[in-house]
Amino acid sequence: MYTLPIPARNGLADYDSVVARRHNATKDALAQHRGAVAGALADYLKFSGNGSSLQPIPVTPAVSHALETNFDLLDSNGSHSSIRDEILGSAHNGACPYCNSATVDTLDHVLPKTVYPEFSVLAQNLVPSCGTCNRKKGSTCFHSSGLNLMHPYFTKVPNDAILVVDVVVTNQEVTWRFSLQQSASIANDDFALINNTFTLLELADRYSDVSVGEIIDAISGFDDFYADGDPTAVRAFLQKLAVGSQNSRGPNYWKTVILQALADSDAFCAGAYRTLIGKPNA
Ligand SMILES: [Zn+2]
Repeated sequence: MYTLPIPARNGLADYDSVVARRHNATKDALAQHRGAVAGALADYLKFSGNGSSLQPIPVTPAVSHALETNFDLLDSNGSHSSIRDEILGSAHNGACPYCNSATVDTLDHVLPKTVYPEFSVLAQNLVPSCGTCNRKKGSTCFHSSGLNLMHPYFTKVPNDAILVVDVVVTNQEVTWRFSLQQSASIANDDFALINNTFTLLELADRYSDVSVGEIIDAISGFDDFYADGDPTAVRAFLQKLAVGSQNSRGPNYWKTVILQALADSDAFCAGAYRTLIGKPNA
């Protein structure tokens, strides 16, 4: 999870530009609601996208549908695909800001367009997302008590480590479990939003799934390092990988965290890694 810069786009100009491409009756209906939409867009920025302060504008089902389907023009083959491309291109290393792992290929509506159709083409409400996070999030970010998930443009994810992993090493097996831990530099409210998102998107399980295979690949050659029974070389190699991962993807990338945790484990470096690749820790 990480914070992205707020898109520097003019929401009302984008709305006008999209509406101009709609067909006659739809265009007229949307033009009649321009004032209400303009007010809602201003409120969105004023309240930093916080759904607890934002009420959907009152519209008929037909107008709601017209607003929601404005988003179709941002499809990859739509007239406004450049907005989509710009937002997808803002992701760091192409990584999803929710999971900081998978590649972005969709636009997530932070406030869902089914509830807030007036924000369907608002760049500040559109976040680059991987398909899995987008699907798991669905429209659940809206809650009667307000937005209870992180907003990648407005929630401040710290640069220090909040992703941690608990590694358990025995002579029979190595297991681990990811979780979040609040750091001193993060506000309670922001941490609650981030933790809710971590839970909803099932990131602990997803990080476990993706990390087991990658770690097994990384350690398949460890027996050379460990040939003389000295864990030092194994530890040094893991630490080198962890530093590389931290430099490229930061401290809250699952790979950084698990590599460092395994390097810190005396038992793991002293041969317990072999249980991961189906060999006894002799
Ligand atoms: Zn994701």
